[in-house]
Amino acid sequence: MTTSDVISKLKSEINCNISTEKSDLETYGTDWTREFNPDPLAVIFPKTIEDVKNIVSFANKNKVSLTPSGGRTGLSAGAVAKNGELVVSFEKMNKVLSFNKADRTLEVQAGITTKEIQDYAKEKGLFYPVDFSSAGSSQIGGNIATNAGGIRVIRYGLTRQWIKGLKVVTGKGDILELNKGLTKNATGYDLMNLFIGSEGTLGLIAEATIQLTTQPKDSSVILIGLKNIENSIKVLELFREKLTLNAFEFFSHSAVKHVVKKLERNIPVCDTLPYYLLVDIETPSDNEIEIASEIYTNAFETGLIEDGVISQNPSQYRELWSFRENITEAISVFLTYKNDISVRTSQIPDFINDISAILNNEYPDFDTILFGHIGDGNIHVSILKPHDFDKEKFLNLCRGVNTKIFETVAKYDGSISAEHGVGLIKKPYLTYTRSEAEIELMKGIKKVFDPNGIMNPGKIF
Ligand SMILES: Cc1cc2nc3c(=O)[nH]c(=O)nc-3n(C[C@H](O)[C@H](O)[C@H](O)COP(=O)(O)OP(=O)(O)OC[C@H]3O[C@@H](n4cnc5c(N)ncnc54)[C@H](O)[C@@H]3O)c2cc1C
Repeated sequence: MTTSDVISKLKSEINCNISTEKSDLETYGTDWTREFNPDPLAVIFPKTIEDVKNIVSFANKNKVSLTPSGGRTGLSAGAVAKNGELVVSFEKMNKVLSFNKADRTLEVQAGITTKEIQDYAKEKGLFYPVDFSSAGSSQIGGNIATNAGGIRVIRYGLTRQWIKGLKVVTGKGDILELNKGLTKNATGYDLMNLFIGSEGTLGLIAEATIQLTTQPKDSSVILIGLKNIENSIKVLELFREKLTLNAFEFFSHSAVKHVVKKLERNIPVCDTLPYYLLVDIETPSDNEIEIASEIYTNAFETGLIEDGVISQNPSQYRELWSFRENITEAISVFLTYKNDISVRTSQIPDFINDISAILNNEYPDFDTILFGHIGDGNIHVSILKPHDFDKEKFLNLCRGVNTKIFETVAKYDGSISAEHGVGLIKKPYLTYTRSEAEIELMKGIKKVFDPNGIMNPGKIF
């Protein structure tokens, strides 16, 4: 069958919007990464789980590969369709299906955005804690498929922690209703959790039951400048010993000029220090604010920190956060090569020193930026392509340096992908974190759920 035969058959057999417009193929066939050229067969927009089942059944019968597409904010090319795949966009499956006050759960379709869930929870006097700067565009289906983390993992955990049930269509075409909102369910293998972080390789996530929680109390944030990274984890220990932390974030000096340019505002602490921390603390009363100030003053007097500022009101709180939250967007004007790596939190200072030595050695002329969630042991490494540097030459250079970075990750028993997923971009490096035996088992699991290999082929392994 020719491509146009497949498209005509698809249009005649499946009752969904289908687009083959060039602009749609380009938009829906890719994500935030700009390494690959999208080349999908078509884009299809299901509205219900039955539509999703029909699409999978069509794909199996006609040997068509499917690439699930959420908000396309992914940073590992998991949603990239570059080999004639049919892109399944969830953007028309964006409804809240039900809210259960007693269980504090929300049933939603997979295409609802993370921000819409946060807003809905707030309307009900509750809280959905998973958050990051792409929340306005990313979808819950994409968050589940990548087990997204973000800025509050130190307090609330990853997306996995907030999923109580999933309705999925496996690559084989079965509809599975997994866990059904239960808190306790000790009945053998946990199939729901297999889908969390599976990057669309086992099946399509159509609906999810989301756990909500109590709204957080008032919080304050402290922006801190450091002379050396060794002190970062000592500062974490001091604050965490006496207070509840919502976030413990970090960025290197090289991030400052980009974010200052984007925000058109100066950073309100000494701007020549090599490292900055953002410590978000629950401060429901003056007591916690006093404790935080005491810890800060002691750390300053003993030379642990060089400079800092504590938010005094909600507007200052948001202003201080903006210096961390806007980094990814500020550097998005460049083609950026990203690594998202993790080690145990206690190893962060040594790890950052080792990684910085590699970056200084390998990229003496490029802007290299470190930032991320160091309270969770997670740093993002971004290398910016100078505008006049050849794209392919730049990417090849970065791929070459990856070996050195990932050898260091492996030395620390760390992960080559902390929260962005493997997708296409990190696939060649999986063995730095997962053993051959683990990868064989993962391939075996995929075969059970997706015997014809139609689900997002080429991703993860
Ligand atoms: C500015 C910015 C900041 C970010 N910050 C963070 C951060 O702090 N923490 C973090 O973890 N991530 C972060 N990300 C990455 C990204 O937002 C997350 O990975 C997010 O979970 C992706 O969701 P999405 O809906 O955009 O998924 P997409 O990019 O569309 O897809 C991601 C993967 O999920 C699969 N998928 C999507 N929908 C489904 C479905 N319904 N069923 C099965 N598979 C599906 C896709 O095939 C793909 O493999 C950031 C990205 C940007 C651009």
